[in-house]
Amino acid sequence: MSEHFDLLIRHGVCILPWGAEATDVGVRHGRIAALGVAADATAAQVIDATGLHVLPGLIDPHVHLRDPGDKAVETIPTGTRAAVLGGLAAVFDMPNTAPSITDEEKLAWKQDYVEREAWCDMGLYVGGTKSNIPELAKLELGRGVCGIKIFAGSSTGDLLVEDDEHLERVMRSGRRRIAYHSEDEYRLQDRRHMFHRGDPHRRHMEWRDVECAFLGTRRLMALARATGRPAHILHVSTAEELDYLKDFRDLATCEVLVNHLTQVAPDCYDRLEGFGVMNPPIRGPEVQQACWRAVNDGTVDTVGSDHAPHARDKKLLPWPDCPAGLTGVQTIVPVMLNHVNAGRLPLTRMVDLMCAGPARVYGVVGKGRLAAGYDADFTLVDMKQQRRIEDSWIVSPCGWTPFAGMDITGWPMATIVRGNVVMRDDEVLGAPIGKLVRFVG
Ligand SMILES: [Zn+2]
Repeated sequence: MSEHFDLLIRHGVCILPWGAEATDVGVRHGRIAALGVAADATAAQVIDATGLHVLPGLIDPHVHLRDPGDKAVETIPTGTRAAVLGGLAAVFDMPNTAPSITDEEKLAWKQDYVEREAWCDMGLYVGGTKSNIPELAKLELGRGVCGIKIFAGSSTGDLLVEDDEHLERVMRSGRRRIAYHSEDEYRLQDRRHMFHRGDPHRRHMEWRDVECAFLGTRRLMALARATGRPAHILHVSTAEELDYLKDFRDLATCEVLVNHLTQVAPDCYDRLEGFGVMNPPIRGPEVQQACWRAVNDGTVDTVGSDHAPHARDKKLLPWPDCPAGLTGVQTIVPVMLNHVNAGRLPLTRMVDLMCAGPARVYGVVGKGRLAAGYDADFTLVDMKQQRRIEDSWIVSPCGWTPFAGMDITGWPMATIVRGNVVMRDDEVLGAPIGKLVRFVG
């Protein structure tokens, strides 16, 4: 008797943990039931993936969906629509919303909201503050929580934890890996007087210089070494840190952003002005080369978008009043596929950075590889498809992308989340079926 599946993906080239292989995939009850399926197998739904690569569902482990916040900028429904249109099966969302996600009550609200309104699966960061340290050990084990996020610099209000005493107390509070925004707050404040309102946007990278980031990471690594608490350094943006972190591989993992791999100063500031301003800043070509070296020598564990939308009119304010942060959740996959086609990294390494990497760093359960029993999350990509990224394609309400005008080769054609086809050929399908990602507790 022939086998029957809920979904069959036929004739694609799958990126398996052990390499690329032309094989069919059978899905049952939202999970991968079989790799390699008999010709006479049947299914309720069959996708012909001829000419396509079948990747494990890609994960962006660093987004700010701004919800609760300004609905005219972004929300969880709009940001996850953008994610699935851009080929992402899951995103991990940062806690610095208005209000921030820093306690049991706000976390419970978000857990419930995500499972009603999200179009893809989500992991949730909980913000560490100076006042919630006693609760962090419990909060980090919450449903769907990918970890504690600490802003050791570059934040305002209660999310800033800049001094060694509080950082050490945070590190001694629990045991899961903590994700850090690493820029030294004291150095940022000390240097602020050297710069003036209306200075050219490129001054952004002079204010927030290499030493701001490197000093922040040295301080964090000293404390991580002393406490033994695992660390994940988000958006590493200097050659110095990438080199330094090689001596902390027993404790620390790290991320680079697609922006630091793609955009370069001073061009980004001259061309994009406020729409090129983010933290840590985009720097010169030598930093971009260092980031690529670190991608290709294995130093880098994950790549993220740091999707951080702002209203267009705010981005038009003179520097430094224009808020830092760029959109990216919808563009990370096309831009990375374009880098693959340009020969900057193999497709298998891109999948490692966007699937196995986040799974390893955050302890994801049941996602991050094409293997029997894993969630049936897939991103189907056409490596030959040529498109231009345009503002008009962006579904985040803020409506802009710093990659507008970029010609891309390689495009996501379908996104499948636990067996549900949520995007096909640029169309969002069905209803919001997102769930919270599961993590090793
Ligand atoms: Zn961020």
